[in-house]
Amino acid sequence: MAKLDNVASLTGPSRMTDRPQPPSLDQFRRVVIKVGSALLVDRARGRLNAAWLASLAEDIADLKGQGVEVLVVSSGAIALGRTVLGLSGGSLKLEESQAAAAVGQIALARLWAEMLGHHAVQAGQVLVTFADTEERRRYLNARATMQKLLELGAVPVVNENDTVATNEIRYGDNDRLAARVAAMIGADLLVLFSDVDGLYTAPPGSDPDARHLPVIARITPEIEAMAGGAASELSRGGMRTKIEAGKIATGAGAHMIIADGRVKNPLARIAGGARCSWFLTPSTPASARKAWIGGSLEPRGTLHVDAGAVAALDQGASLLPVGVTRIEGDFARGDAVLIRAPDGAVLGRGLVAYDHEDAARIIGRRSAEIADILGFRGRDAMVHRDDLVVRPA
Ligand code: GLU
Repeated sequence: MAKLDNVASLTGPSRMTDRPQPPSLDQFRRVVIKVGSALLVDRARGRLNAAWLASLAEDIADLKGQGVEVLVVSSGAIALGRTVLGLSGGSLKLEESQAAAAVGQIALARLWAEMLGHHAVQAGQVLVTFADTEERRRYLNARATMQKLLELGAVPVVNENDTVATNEIRYGDNDRLAARVAAMIGADLLVLFSDVDGLYTAPPGSDPDARHLPVIARITPEIEAMAGGAASELSRGGMRTKIEAGKIATGAGAHMIIADGRVKNPLARIAGGARCSWFLTPSTPASARKAWIGGSLEPRGTLHVDAGAVAALDQGASLLPVGVTRIEGDFARGDAVLIRAPDGAVLGRGLVAYDHEDAARIIGRRSAEIADILGFRGRDAMVHRDDLVVRPA
């Protein structure tokens, strides 16, 4: 993350208590922005904060104009839907929430499409469940789709698929979902817009000595203790879930910001130096992902490759089916596999794009033939270069 000089300067001990120089957001490559329900829906008046959302859409279009890829994780389906359906009162039963989400998600997606559309930016709705971000097979699909949306210049607008997710398999809050999305897509910054302007040493509402923390270099047990557990009815995520999100994001090589979203043009405000809390990471998305692939996954099989493939992999290319001579193991798509050179030496590891049955049928063949052999057009690479670690140290 070479360009982040001024983020690095935030970590110096002398800066910890000062107001840090904000790094400009255009230094980031890929940014995930999480918007909470309370910001989008004015429950007291039973309507949407349309002008606010328009101002955020303007900020997003500006950031995109500076060459930054943007994803949005937007809550608000349940809050919007319950307003439309007249489900007032306290907390909803699970099936009421799900019905509310079914109605509200349509409105929410339309809203984003319209607001971004005013700036000639396309929105693409992506609904995911917990399992989509946990299971590698589904994970690769969600990742590939979002990647393609970004490549096409669109803004993925992500929410949990609340209508089908039951209690046991729910995220329940979008803070952690946003962090998972950031990790999954290799974002280098996650911005959580909230109704507080960051982390305090104690609850600012009840403790007059509470001090705002502008920079958190590392999430320590002490930091976790500061987060407490409070959450309002609308935003399930209290500070605790934000710290959990911070652990996921920083572990995946993304910095995270908690900022007050209750102002117009909230992104521009951050860039302008508004008070917020930065959670810094020492790593980058690429190195964190490589460490994950190279270290923590149990290989489920082996791909033996030819000399041409060894040379190509050493140049940083993807592993194509044509370079694979033999496979071993009952691996499924998305599993980690070992890659072995002709002499049997382990060349690296990667996440394989095909189940072993399909892989066996396409090895030694050109990628253009895959569709004819399998009857569907799969991925060109057996292991994409983003999913590969070659000759780990
Ligand atoms: N997915 C829920 C919704 O869109 C919100 C969860 C959250 O706010 O954290 O209504």
